[in-house]
Amino acid sequence: MKKWNLIIDVALCHDCNNCFLADKDEFVGNDFPPYSLAQPWSGHRWMNIEGKEKGQYPIVQVAYLPIPCMHCDDAPCLTADGAVYKRADGLVIIDPEKAKGRDDIVDTCPYGAIYWNEEARVPQKCTGCVHLLEDGWKETRCSQVCPTGALTFVLADDAEMAERVAAEGLEAFRPELGTKPRVLYKNLHRWTKVFVAGSAAFADTDECAEGAEVTVNKAGIPVAEGRVNNYGEFAVEKLEPGETYDVVIEAAGYRPHSATVTLDQSVTMDLVLLQKAEEHSLA
Ligand code: SF4
Ligand code: SF4
Repeated sequence: MKKWNLIIDVALCHDCNNCFLADKDEFVGNDFPPYSLAQPWSGHRWMNIEGKEKGQYPIVQVAYLPIPCMHCDDAPCLTADGAVYKRADGLVIIDPEKAKGRDDIVDTCPYGAIYWNEEARVPQKCTGCVHLLEDGWKETRCSQVCPTGALTFVLADDAEMAERVAAEGLEAFRPELGTKPRVLYKNLHRWTKVFVAGSAAFADTDECAEGAEVTVNKAGIPVAEGRVNNYGEFAVEKLEPGETYDVVIEAAGYRPHSATVTLDQSVTMDLVLLQKAEEHSLA
């Protein structure tokens, strides 16, 4: 059977918040029984965009991570009495009648995707726009308005999704939670991994060291590589946070430069000046 899935491309999210606003437009002030009561005017982020800066001046990246309810297949928020239930199409719904007064449900979500509506006395979250899907919609309000194509709502069976996971490198966010989310991320490394970046120039000419090779080693074994570009900069991505690496910059005719960095976070190294090999050997 086909089920709903949401694919989020972290590399395409620019924090415009169109998705957040579309969610507000749809749900604030509007009841959609039996699936949801109106969202309050403030305090809820059913589509929550988190952001972080990576690296230091002058080489800095920003990454944004949209976090809605993951509509998990092994959802810890589900209740035996049907106050929170999973539909055959994969969506997880909080029944606003059965869940009335159940503020304990808010803390059952390890992603923090459930919010408490004090006025209506109900826990609430993203419904996957189930009321629209039942009217024939093929996507959610958030995926419809995303200007960059970062959000793709997909109706697919398990085999089709497994193919997309393999072909597009899709990943669950925080898979260690074991909840089997139906929201999967592309380019999640932008959020979960770190980079080492820097600038390099030739000491004798003061020119950018364009083309110099950058090799990142861990315990003497190369694990990633990059190249200095025509602006004299490099960035090697997808490195593990908290690990220590040796960064080696090499260019023909110049002495290799090596530095050890511990990546508690993404690091922008100081300018590296590559010395002529001959000058070094004469010194
Ligand atoms: S609409 Fe798209 S690009 Fe804008 S914040 Fe949402 S996911 Fe990101
Ligand atoms: S993300 Fe949280 S609220 Fe949504 S299904 Fe998973 S556990 Fe439940």
